[in-house]
Amino acid sequence: MLANSSRSCGTQTVLRCEKLYILIINMLLKEKIDEFKKKIEGDVLIERFWREVYSTDASIYKFVPELIVLPKTKQDIQKTIKFARENKLDITCRTAGTSLAGTAVGKGIILDFTRYFDQILEIGPDYVKTQPAVIYDDLQAKLAEKGLFLPPVPASSRACMIGGNVATKACGGGAVKYGTLDDFMLAIEFIDADGDIVNTETGQGVEKFKQKLEDLRQRILNDKKTMAILNRRMDVQDASTYNIFAFDRYSNTNELIAHLMMGSIGTLGIFTEIKLKAVPKPTEKPVSWAVYLADLYQVDNFIKEVKRLGCSAVELVDRVSLDLTRNCFPALGIPTEAEAMIIVQFDEKIEQTLKEFENSLKNFKLVGEAVKDPVKMEKFWEVRKCLLPLTAKFSATTKPLVSVDDVGVRVKDIPDLLQDLRKIFKDLNIKVALYGHAGTGTIHIDPVIEASTKEHVKIIKKIADKVYEAVFKYDGTIATEHGGGRCRSMYLEKEWGKEVYKYLLEIKQIFDPDDILNPNTMFNTDKSKIYDNVKIPIKPLGPEEWPCMECAYCQSKCPAWITAKKGETGPKQFKNLIRYRVLNVKDNDPEILEMEKQIKTCILCGNCTKVCETIVGAKLKEFNENWREGKVRE
Ligand SMILES: Cc1cc2nc3c(=O)[nH]c(=O)nc-3n(C[C@H](O)[C@H](O)[C@H](O)COP(=O)(O)OP(=O)(O)OC[C@H]3O[C@@H](n4cnc5c(N)ncnc54)[C@H](O)[C@@H]3O)c2cc1C
Ligand code: SF4
Ligand code: SF4
Repeated sequence: MLANSSRSCGTQTVLRCEKLYILIINMLLKEKIDEFKKKIEGDVLIERFWREVYSTDASIYKFVPELIVLPKTKQDIQKTIKFARENKLDITCRTAGTSLAGTAVGKGIILDFTRYFDQILEIGPDYVKTQPAVIYDDLQAKLAEKGLFLPPVPASSRACMIGGNVATKACGGGAVKYGTLDDFMLAIEFIDADGDIVNTETGQGVEKFKQKLEDLRQRILNDKKTMAILNRRMDVQDASTYNIFAFDRYSNTNELIAHLMMGSIGTLGIFTEIKLKAVPKPTEKPVSWAVYLADLYQVDNFIKEVKRLGCSAVELVDRVSLDLTRNCFPALGIPTEAEAMIIVQFDEKIEQTLKEFENSLKNFKLVGEAVKDPVKMEKFWEVRKCLLPLTAKFSATTKPLVSVDDVGVRVKDIPDLLQDLRKIFKDLNIKVALYGHAGTGTIHIDPVIEASTKEHVKIIKKIADKVYEAVFKYDGTIATEHGGGRCRSMYLEKEWGKEVYKYLLEIKQIFDPDDILNPNTMFNTDKSKIYDNVKIPIKPLGPEEWPCMECAYCQSKCPAWITAKKGETGPKQFKNLIRYRVLNVKDNDPEILEMEKQIKTCILCGNCTKVCETIVGAKLKEFNENWREGKVRE
């Protein structure tokens, strides 16, 4: 009514009428949220400053949500779905928020699992059942007590959580020997888009999807063109989209559904329990060596050889990343002539394998000696795990603009792809870090871009067009382990072709026909451009906060996070709140007292600064201190 009547007014009046309309809608929504809050056992956050805190993840994107729900029970989740449907809001699940593809942020409701869905439920002789918000390393530590382990360790394992890991089909260097997280999926319980519980272990709720999935399965299996594509691409590690290979692998609907949830980035169902296979922990302590290759074109043969020897990880750091590492850590003595560094790890029959490995090194053209010193190797591993945050160290106005971060090809194509990538970034005159789990063909690409204006950021479209053109030349993928998402959805159809893409859309249609679960992430439904909705430009507020790229590696060491029973309360959140307070909030804002109280729950212990010392050197304790002393200004 109001919207219609506003059209008959003059321009100024139209604007006023529309403002009034939005105000009324917001007031009505607030009333409804207040009602909804009373029905929820968990917590509901609606304050503008909380919404700001939840507006970013480790990606480049930013969306301010309407509200945040920290559900305590499954009923809370069901009520949230009902509320979302009634009010035409969408739902985005979130665990640690380390998503690099912008899939832990959204405009509607954020469902944060970290406060109440953080328990390991059961550890059996060869499996673990867990709620979604358990940190990967914490789960690993508990498994180790029983002599077990979960091998596909992502580099972010000290921060990321199992729910997010399943939703992104996460893995790490261990995939070369043990496979991806998909190889460990046993069963899952989730709440579907209608609010019904589905459990693939007990069969609860599965019937509803059975016929539709079986029909789709038959059509896929009978579609020769699609099957030819799937068979051809089986040897490319992929996490770009739904796990469509599962239709070929699992005829049992329960298993099929469980594996379809893998890599679904919160768009098919809301996970409440996850059952994963766990394997016996290697009895020997893994040993790693690093070698410097003099020629890039040895990479594929080198990887073939270490795979033959049964390596448990093989990581590649390209020359351009080595240059960056050398600048940051001169004491490591990285030779300038090296084309690439390869880190190899073995976790069984170590003594004998290392002898064989040493022997086979004679067949390769290396620069200098292999690095064997365990202390130095520990440092190399730390550097490798922190290469993405490290790129934030470049300058006072550049940022690593994660947008083409996770491409993959077959191992044989790695040298050609690296040459292409080096040329692309040289031509664009952009610094870039290239590295990855080479054993499975993963190459991470982190271009470092001037982050002071929106115009600068637009370059990421040019980069993505060029990088993906190169990747597709080798029949590669836009994501191997970081999951699909906002920076990739516009390239998904190009990767898979029309036929397969059509089936991907059908999968979404079966589970979430109204598109309320994390819309515009897997598919580019709203036709946004790769550079739309980015959190850039960011105005630097000092060398203490600028390098922080929100990796959350310091979060679990933050006493304020632990006292607050998790949620988004921790170093990077305080930093974001201070930024928001200084740059956006007027002194008469009604939320000011509460917001400042929140920032001051930081007890200035310095743990975050200590953790970040070896990462990018952000000093978030000092930043908080400076702000309290009135030294942080616009
Ligand atoms: C420095 C750095 C290094 C990284 N290295 C790696 C690496 O080596 N390997 C790798 O795989 N990834 C890596 N990542 C990416 C990231 O850590 C992974 O994608 C991780 O799996 C995300 O976990 P999370 O708990 O942070 O999930 P979030 O970021 O919170 O969410 C990720 C996705 O999971 C969905 N989700 C979360 N909870 C649920 C739920 N209960 N139900 C349904 N959906 C849910 C979200 O909606 C979202 O789509 C890295 C990230 C950073 C910042
Ligand atoms: S302070 Fe450092 S460790 Fe903590 S989130 Fe920022 S970059 Fe990561
Ligand atoms: S200084 Fe503050 S933000 Fe950093 S770890 Fe300590 S309490 Fe957390």
